[in-house]
Amino acid sequence: ARNSGDESIAVIGLGRFGSHLAESLSALGHDVLAVDRNAQQVQKWSAHLDQVTQADATDEDALRQLGIADLQRVVVAIGASVEASVLTVLALVELGVPQIWARAISGQHAKILSSVGAQHVIFPEAETGERLAHLIVTRMLDFV
Ligand code: ATP
Repeated sequence: ARNSGDESIAVIGLGRFGSHLAESLSALGHDVLAVDRNAQQVQKWSAHLDQVTQADATDEDALRQLGIADLQRVVVAIGASVEASVLTVLALVELGVPQIWARAISGQHAKILSSVGAQHVIFPEAETGERLAHLIVTRMLDFV
């Protein structure tokens, strides 16, 4: 049910990818708990999203205080900082979050996220590139 705490989805990291994801989930009617360690990002997204909190997501206690241990689904949208991404996934595994979605920015990063315990690893640049390649080739064949 909407609005019950355990149905909320947390999105950690409000860069380009995470902010688009958080806005889309919100538009689909989900309660989104957005987290970023950067105060400027938090301020920027506070106007567009219901719940935006400043915290370092690698800090297990901070995540627990935000109620993230009670959520079913958390997305780690941190990319460029591989260390922060991996430590955040580790903290979420320690908290027992059942569905951890984590964004990778390289094949090696993806392997690490899986071995640490992320249930779903997404690699947007690779996936979008592959999809676009298929789309371009298919469209070209259409016009041969
Ligand atoms: P994008 O491509 O989505 O714009 P990026 O890969 O360029 O992201 P990242 O370094 O992945 O940039 O940062 C994405 C967001 O994650 C930033 O807003 C950053 O402040 C946030 N972030 C990074 N580390 C942490 C952390 N430990 N806790 C919370 N948020 C973090």
